[in-house]
Amino acid sequence: MAVLHGQQNTLSLPRAVELEMSRHMYLSLPQEACGVVIGESTASGIRINRFQPIRNAAPDPLHHFSLDQREWIQLFLSDSTVVGIFHTHPSTLPVPSQEDLRALPNFAGILQTYLIGAPDLSFSASDEVERPMLLNAYRIISYEEKSRSAATSPSPTYKLKQIPLNVT
Ligand SMILES: [Zn+2]
Repeated sequence: MAVLHGQQNTLSLPRAVELEMSRHMYLSLPQEACGVVIGESTASGIRINRFQPIRNAAPDPLHHFSLDQREWIQLFLSDSTVVGIFHTHPSTLPVPSQEDLRALPNFAGILQTYLIGAPDLSFSASDEVERPMLLNAYRIISYEEKSRSAATSPSPTYKLKQIPLNVT
């Protein structure tokens, strides 16, 4: 797996890929769904080309997500350039939870972007073919926590900053 570096701040997502993510989310309900997005670096930012669903291996998949280790390692060893992680919130808004923030160090070293999807609960279920998904994109940002004591080494801390998502 290749890793992208740089300060790209726009994320572009083809509509067809967004629909695949949305379908995976709805098919996984009421459980949380997860996966990764594969893409490339462009002059203006990061372009997502493909969505790869990964099995949610969490013991309690109704409220948590955990990427299946085997599928994750297979992908890690492939040539795919994983540019971000995706998971869903079945019954809340697509904003980072406290647990999401706590788990960031698991991904921060290798991924740049973080996507959260959620069903659009305001939408009536009359059209079941193309039900909309709320989708937010974030950049994983690291910063050194200022240590009060010079003797303790600073540990990197991570946070999420929302970035524009350009669906094409
Ligand atoms: Zn979450």
